[in-house]
Amino acid sequence: MDPTYPGVHAGGDIITTTLDAVVKWGRKSSLWPMPFGTACCAIEFMAVSFSHYDIARFGAEVLRFSPRQADLMFVAGTIVDKQGPILKTIYDQMPEPKWVISMGVCASSGGFYRSYHTMQGIDEIIPVDVYVPGCPPAPEALLAAIMKIQERIKRGEQAKAPQGAHRLGASGEGAIDRRARRQAWAKDDAERLKQGLPPRGVIPLRVIPPAPPETNRG
Ligand code: SF4
Repeated sequence: MDPTYPGVHAGGDIITTTLDAVVKWGRKSSLWPMPFGTACCAIEFMAVSFSHYDIARFGAEVLRFSPRQADLMFVAGTIVDKQGPILKTIYDQMPEPKWVISMGVCASSGGFYRSYHTMQGIDEIIPVDVYVPGCPPAPEALLAAIMKIQERIKRGEQAKAPQGAHRLGASGEGAIDRRARRQAWAKDDAERLKQGLPPRGVIPLRVIPPAPPETNRG
């Protein structure tokens, strides 16, 4: 028993508690994750689920591939518009209370896919509890995300406000308006052009000079 948990005295010899605290402790210590993997981040997620990183220490090693048996969803990879409604349906099938970790920049913001067909963050369509930056994030970062979820469960936080609905081109209700997204981007690009800036997401190519010919081969 965690000696810092409320109601634990004398190093764990005496425990006074409430039913509510026991339920929170049980939930935090037995998360059942479901990976929603679509791209390279899902490969990195596999590393987390193996013995080296040992998510069993957090009680989260029971991976489920049915949303009805999971309470923590890892979205690992790029999500295109066509996958958005599928993601929402699977999220809706998870029983409450449930949590979502957005793994990597693709899931969190579209990453470098600033294109008409890619969701610019899964919070366009489902609420996200923890965003994990990186491309891909290190396994340690995912462990930190699990610990953040555990902290929130311990504090009794459960409500999630829909996020990202304010974004241009995102209704937040599952209907993705690609035309609105494209129009918003065109307006943004025009504004930037007036300021002498390149369109957002355009990275100038750097030409690497050819290596000098090898002259000394011994
Ligand atoms: S964030 Fe990077 S590693 Fe993860 S899915 Fe996107 S491109 Fe792949």
